[in-house]
Amino acid sequence: MEEALQALKVEASSDLAAIAGANDLEPFRIKYFGRKSPFALLMRQLGDAPKEDRPRLGQLANELKNDLQLLFDDKKASLAHGAGEASDIDLTLPGRMQPQGKLHPVTQIMEEICEIFEGLGFTVAEGPDIETDFYNFEALNIPAHHPARDMHDTFYVDDSILLRTHTSPMQARVMETKEPPLRVIAPGKVYRCDSDITHTPMFHQVEGFLVDSNVSFADLKGVLSVFIAKMFDESTPIRFRPSFFPFTEPSAEVDIGCVMCNSKGCRVCKQTGWLEILGAGMIDPEVFKKVDYDPEVYSGFAFGLGVERIAMLKYGINDIRLYYENDLRFLRQF
Ligand SMILES: [Zn+2]
Repeated sequence: MEEALQALKVEASSDLAAIAGANDLEPFRIKYFGRKSPFALLMRQLGDAPKEDRPRLGQLANELKNDLQLLFDDKKASLAHGAGEASDIDLTLPGRMQPQGKLHPVTQIMEEICEIFEGLGFTVAEGPDIETDFYNFEALNIPAHHPARDMHDTFYVDDSILLRTHTSPMQARVMETKEPPLRVIAPGKVYRCDSDITHTPMFHQVEGFLVDSNVSFADLKGVLSVFIAKMFDESTPIRFRPSFFPFTEPSAEVDIGCVMCNSKGCRVCKQTGWLEILGAGMIDPEVFKKVDYDPEVYSGFAFGLGVERIAMLKYGINDIRLYYENDLRFLRQF
């Protein structure tokens, strides 16, 4: 009987080794593990063996059955993985990497901007992309037929509803519900009907404003200088140029020394050595009147910056549309 068990083991092993596909597994299972298998037959004959041999033979038979079961399971698993026999697996092959997702470069820069201002005591506020004419224009001292409206290339939903053209509506939205002192940063998407290498119909802005008693232009300059030093470099030159926005007075555009040519003059800065990065100014008293703040008591400043523009300057990107083409070769660089 011991020999019969050994012979069965040899036969089963060679049968198992010959299995090439999953279809051969079931016949093998029936042949060796079924009720009519030679193994079951031997087990039934165990009763006829001499009494003193029975425990040893029973143990041998069990071991054989367990070994066979393990080999069978291995075979099944390796066929399921399409890897052939277990011994064919090359453990030295490098594993398959799961590609790791990352934040979009625009999101990264937006988070970086918010972090810098949060470090200066600003809190984040968010508002709707679909905005009323009132918050987008009226409350910001841009009444109907004001020439400044022409500069905004607005997408209108109907006569009084539009896609916000800047994040500045958040000024009135926050001031309406809160009393000074205020330090608010409002990041978000804005929309303008415009598309070329420096414009996309949707882009991102971060609006910031601070309202308190005795806020001066020096405070504005201080806050923006800290921001630019942290965003670019401590040594980045900054200049404020007089400008005009209906909702700030006085207004300024802020330039930094060209990061492409170190202010020497190049194509990007049009040989001036300077690049415009944001607009800012002291909040116009007319804006305070719209939200019932007393302009005799409170003063404040506001600024708005384009996230894509900052990211382009920081990373040296020359076409804004690259951000929105979803080309992984571009996106993976960040
Ligand atoms: Zn330059």
